[in-house]
Amino acid sequence: MNYSCLHTHTVFCDGKDDIETCCRRAWEKGLVSIGFSAHAPVTKKTGFKSDWHLGDDRLEEYLEAVRAARSRWEGKLPVYLGLEADYIEGLAGPVDADYPSLGLDYLIGSVHYLIPPNGAAPFTVDGPPEELEQGLREGFGGDGEALTQAYWDAVTAMIRAGGFDILGHVDLVKKNNRDGRLFNPAERAFLRRAEEAAQAAARAGIAVEVNTGGLNRKKTAETYPSASILRFFRENRVPAIITADAHRAEDLDGHYTDARETLLASGYTETVFFEGRKEGAAIWKTEEIR
Ligand SMILES: [Zn+2]
Ligand SMILES: [Zn+2]
Repeated sequence: MNYSCLHTHTVFCDGKDDIETCCRRAWEKGLVSIGFSAHAPVTKKTGFKSDWHLGDDRLEEYLEAVRAARSRWEGKLPVYLGLEADYIEGLAGPVDADYPSLGLDYLIGSVHYLIPPNGAAPFTVDGPPEELEQGLREGFGGDGEALTQAYWDAVTAMIRAGGFDILGHVDLVKKNNRDGRLFNPAERAFLRRAEEAAQAAARAGIAVEVNTGGLNRKKTAETYPSASILRFFRENRVPAIITADAHRAEDLDGHYTDARETLLASGYTETVFFEGRKEGAAIWKTEEIR
């Protein structure tokens, strides 16, 4: 079975390796293509300080560096230019008007931040546990269900707003759900929100990623999303793409056999590979899972 990785972070944001090292490892590992997806700059748009996003002042340099890699690897390894865009309620999203002018091959849409409805400070659901605890306490009065609902509200709003090709780590909120701290993943209310996201994704014509980043960084015992959530995407005929959310070149195909198992367990018989754009839409090549 062929593999690719379109969700790759480098030293331009919070990854450990540079673009060339990642291309070389992807080639050595036999991946059919690689795509770079730096965390798109947020500071100018939101005022948030961040050490894990691409700086606004380095965006152009990043775009040029990936284009240069594409030229160097031409004929050997297709190299795609992407970004992982944050959806931050009321402040930033993949639908923002600045993205279409960048000449990207693709955009991943992801929710990391929550904006508490009571005016408390925004926080990320996948940051250190202390940050989550503080956000839960100050932003949601300790109500894990309310935090979880706010997460799904953001995911669904991002999908409906559109502007992106791949839905990033759709159940990321589980990363800090130690011992069911926030929610019970088997509960109907939780699964219902995931199903709603799957239906919205089908209408939007986007792909869902089966992301092994949590496994690669030993933060979760399963892919994003879980098989029980991925099943809703399969029922709604949403194409699924395997990605590593790699922050090191070594992880570019990390835990891909687990992703394959999750796809099969969810009823998928096919996966998709990105092959560029035509008339504004992503071209997906379908391959049977073997
Ligand atoms: Zn992410
Ligand atoms: Zn990522």
